[in-house]
This record gives sequence, C-alpha cells and structure tokens, in this order.
Amino acid sequence: MGGRKQNIVDLLITKEFLMNIGGKYAVELVKICEKKKKAITDDEIEKKLPLKITEVRTILNRLHYRGIATYQKTRNNKTGWYSYTWQISTARIAALLLEKQLEEIQRAETKMEFETNYAFFTCKTKCNNFPFEIAAEYQFKCPGCGNSLEATDNQKTLKDMRKKIVFMKNEMDELTKHC
Ligand SMILES: [Zn+2]
Repeated sequence: MGGRKQNIVDLLITKEFLMNIGGKYAVELVKICEKKKKAITDDEIEKKLPLKITEVRTILNRLHYRGIATYQKTRNNKTGWYSYTWQISTARIAALLLEKQLEEIQRAETKMEFETNYAFFTCKTKCNNFPFEIAAEYQFKCPGCGNSLEATDNQKTLKDMRKKIVFMKNEMDELTKHC
C-alpha cells in the first residue's frame, strides 16, 4: 500500500470512462496496449480480442478522437503499404478524468449548497417534494394525495452528499498521481 500507485486502467472510474468512449472492449484494448509498453499495430491488438479488425480500428479511432490513443504511420519500403502503430497515453486519460471529476464535484457542491440553503416540503406519502415557493402556492397541501406538505428533513441527504463528495475527492487524489 503506502505510496504504491495502482495502474490507472484498474481504477473503476477509468473503466467506466473508457467504456463510455469506446464500448465494452475499450478497457481490454487499452490494457493490451499498456502491457506492450511500446507502439502496437492494430493487427496485434486484433489477435488478442474477439473482434474484427474494423471493430478494433473503430475503438482506436474513438480513443484517438479524445487524444487517448495516438498513432504513427510508417511505410513499408518493399510493399509500399502503410502500417499504423498505436500508443495509449495514460497521462491523457488521467487529465481527462480529472477535468470530468472536477466538474462533477463542483456540480455536487452546488447541489449541496442549494439543499442546505433551501427548505423543501414533502407530503406524508412522499409523492411530491417542493421548494418553499411552490409548496406555498399549493397552500402546503399536496396536489397528489391531499396530505399536508411539511418541511423535509434533509440531514440524511446532506450526509450522503457530503460522503459522495469526499469519495470523489479521494478518487481525484488517486488520479493526480497518474498525471
Ligand atoms: Zn402527496
């Protein structure tokens, strides 16, 4: 443990992120490239995945679009054909994730601030949850069930939000080690 850093590809946040960009084989593909430790051709990747070469290229192109995969084009002098070798930038993955994480933390903090500063009103059956102004418009009577609307106790919500923010900040600390 201690200062030993995990491979960024093994972090859950990274896996979700890569899957969102490149589909369900994106994580495996990135791992294959990482393991090779130098540039790898799409043919080599294809041999290690249950995918067609066109599918491998599609994933690579999606990763390239986000700057995660980079390629080098080399010409074979005998055949005159071009081949492409690919590399993955884990620093780029970390940078993109940090950017995304920062936005999410800010969003969560704004939401928490809102939750702290504004009272919400709920009926007994919890079919509705309104801010003060709306609850007042309904004269504190739920339009759904007719029960009275009472101020919501949001302590648990706030506690959960606080926990989530701490969790995301810890993930961020983990990510900064990879930049
Ligand atoms: Zn109700």
